[in-house]
Amino acid sequence: MKTIVLGTSNIKCDQNAFGALEIQRLLMQDAIDLIQQAYNNGFCFFNTARFYTDSEEKIGIALKNIKRKSFYIATKTKAETPAAFWKDLNTSLNYLKTDYVDLYQFQCTNKIYKPNDGTGMYECMMKAKDDGFIHHIGLSTHNLKIAKNAIISGLYETIQYPLSYLSGKEELELISLCKNYNVGFIATKIRNDGLLPQMDLSIAYMSQFDNVLCVWDIQRESELNTLLDLTKKIPVLDDDKKDRIHKEVIKFTNHFCHGCKECLPCPKNIKIDTCLRSMLSYKRANEIEPDIKNEMMKIKECVHCNLCRIRCPYDLDVPEMLKQNLKEYLNASGGNEDKNEL
Ligand code: SF4
Ligand code: SF4
Repeated sequence: MKTIVLGTSNIKCDQNAFGALEIQRLLMQDAIDLIQQAYNNGFCFFNTARFYTDSEEKIGIALKNIKRKSFYIATKTKAETPAAFWKDLNTSLNYLKTDYVDLYQFQCTNKIYKPNDGTGMYECMMKAKDDGFIHHIGLSTHNLKIAKNAIISGLYETIQYPLSYLSGKEELELISLCKNYNVGFIATKIRNDGLLPQMDLSIAYMSQFDNVLCVWDIQRESELNTLLDLTKKIPVLDDDKKDRIHKEVIKFTNHFCHGCKECLPCPKNIKIDTCLRSMLSYKRANEIEPDIKNEMMKIKECVHCNLCRIRCPYDLDVPEMLKQNLKEYLNASGGNEDKNEL
């Protein structure tokens, strides 16, 4: 196993961490078994969020009888007011059955909270830290500019950002930026919601970065076992794997949304990244998220202004991709009556 230190924090752990996003889909006991199996096999960093429904509760129950200092917990809040911040933090601590979280992050913010910015949000983080409820302050985002600015702000000890072997040059530059500013980098979406199932490629690719904590969203025991086998002897990123990665990159170039949100805002308020990435989740779990229907249907309002296409740093034909995703969505959800209108 490879040990990393997260920036200026005192968090020192194995490079591979347990991501709780997908245990939302599991029954309580199955999730508890999976978390305990991960812990018993060396995972000591558990990454969750208030927004991930019952995942905090599952982690809390699974780890409640284990010495607290033997593992780290990171969670997040989407709160935008101090009152909501404290409500979220109290709820998280309650469900996680702990007096403190090691890392507390603002989640997917479209702004960077700073001291004296008038929101009081950063002050909440400072007070929570002073009072011992949180040990370190982080920020989680899918937006490249927010990530860059948060790193150089000096206000955040860690940044969580999606990273995989499909990541572009600018995204990869965040890693060295983090190193220069001594900020911990937490990588998520390593397999892009299941789009990249070849775990040996992902782990070989990610292990080349010595300052990146890799959060693996795990849903099945078989996935955990595969990952555990691979962590015992991390595959080397040799020419064969580089060649396989290259082929994968070519396969996905031109129709893979990185979720960076640079295309927003859309004049018709279409949540472009949400729509494009929702079908990835479907392919991963074979489940349509119930809340996504309204967002998908809004694609029909696209006026083909091409603003999103111009803004997308990956040169994606965004309007066409949206149209294709809507077709796939309607096929998957049985909404046949709408297909003729596309
Ligand atoms: S092309 Fe369609 S999706 Fe893109 S910004 Fe214009 S209206 Fe929105
Ligand atoms: S469509 Fe392009 S700009 Fe928009 S989120 Fe996806 S990758 Fe980013």
